[in-house]
Amino acid sequence: MFTTENLTKSFYLFHEKIEQQKNQLSELDQAIGDGDHGNNMSRGMTAVIQGIEEKQPETVPELFKVAAMNLISKVGGASGPLYGTAMLQMSKASQTTEDTCQILTEGLAGIKNRGKSSEDEKTMIDLWFPAIEKMQQGKLTKEDLVAFVERTKDMEAKKGRASYLGERSIGHIDPGAASSQLLFESFMEAGVF
Ligand code: ADP
Ligand code: MG
Ligand code: MG
Repeated sequence: MFTTENLTKSFYLFHEKIEQQKNQLSELDQAIGDGDHGNNMSRGMTAVIQGIEEKQPETVPELFKVAAMNLISKVGGASGPLYGTAMLQMSKASQTTEDTCQILTEGLAGIKNRGKSSEDEKTMIDLWFPAIEKMQQGKLTKEDLVAFVERTKDMEAKKGRASYLGERSIGHIDPGAASSQLLFESFMEAGVF
């Protein structure tokens, strides 16, 4: 279950992980995109932490909202509006339910709507979708997350910059799936699930 405490902790952890892996994320994006994914996420999450410290949100929906607004307004790349829309939908969902899977499913629906994308197109959805599915079936583990990211290697990109490469995108991990792994790991370490 999301609580004000564990969600705040999740965002701090996510920011830390992004800072630690900024270069690796940008390197993944260098191979099949424009090489800025680590920097985009770093700029976004730095703004999210600043927003949290300034606004001191006291509820789960408010926390997701602060995250959404900062990601949408501070990140130039595609990932900002995509993560931001996910957070906005999670803000809305958490006003009416405490069901973690349902809240995450609404977040995923936000990404799909915004990106006009679905599973197996080599995007962050290929982390979100199987992760939520596994949570519905039983326990999601960190090993599962690693496996889901690895699976994006074999996929051909159908959306975003990587899709310009067509078949040449095969053999590389999707950077957005890799950053989403860090988000889900943060939720786990903060005790959300
Ligand atoms: P940009 O491509 O604008 O430079 P980033 O490099 O920050 O933005 O983010 C790229 C990531 O965004 C991709 O690895 C992919 O996971 C995700 N992405 C891009 N387009 C879409 C889309 N239409 N739907 C879902 N995810 C997408
Ligand atoms: Mg990029
Ligand atoms: Mg870019």
